[in-house]
Amino acid sequence: MEADLFVAWFEEAARLVRENRDRLTRLDAAIGDADHGTNLDRGLSEVLKALAESAAVESAPEVLITAGATLIRRVGGASGPLYGSLFRQMGKALESPVTLARFAGAFEEGVVAVERLGKASLGDKTMVDALAPASRALALAVRDGAEVGVALDQAARAAGEGAKATIPLQARKGRASYLGERSIGHEDPGAASAALFLAALASVAG
Ligand code: ADP
Ligand code: MG
Repeated sequence: MEADLFVAWFEEAARLVRENRDRLTRLDAAIGDADHGTNLDRGLSEVLKALAESAAVESAPEVLITAGATLIRRVGGASGPLYGSLFRQMGKALESPVTLARFAGAFEEGVVAVERLGKASLGDKTMVDALAPASRALALAVRDGAEVGVALDQAARAAGEGAKATIPLQARKGRASYLGERSIGHEDPGAASAALFLAALASVAG
């Protein structure tokens, strides 16, 4: 799990977000302002450009920190700073050589950074509802001595299930919370995109 793998993660995430851009935007149209798909699609294009241009990106932590800083700088809306913090904190916490256990620990720190910045916790109908279950699945996989591919598949599945589980929830954070009860019945766009990030990781590292 070194630098090339993390670059491949962002390449695959960018591809998946592009493929799902209109779906993410439709989800955000229902309970937000219809920009999540375009925000993230543009942000990930900027990330790939920054990774290609920066000579300093030689290790997994540097890839994550560069990606995070780019998302914070370049993506408007709530999700840019939140995803940016996720990846930047993950990069700061990650030690090389990367192992599954170290990655799981760094991912957890990234999720905590998102929760702090957004003041959101599980059940608030945000990206945390996909990220926190994924982090938990990773920790359990590490505890059980699972192989990397198995662990990442379990994390991706937990994120996907977490995203779907936002449908019946009422949003308590972000733009969707302004809708009150009318936010019920729709999947949270940020949880849906977080599930795509985990699916991308499972597909490149599995
Ligand atoms: P904006 O809401 O500013 O238009 P986006 O549409 O790009 O930004 O992203 C919306 C997503 O950001 C939401 O679906 C939710 O998952 C996430 N989000 C918004 N506010 C918060 C928060 N306070 N904590 C965690 N996630 C949040
Ligand atoms: Mg939006």
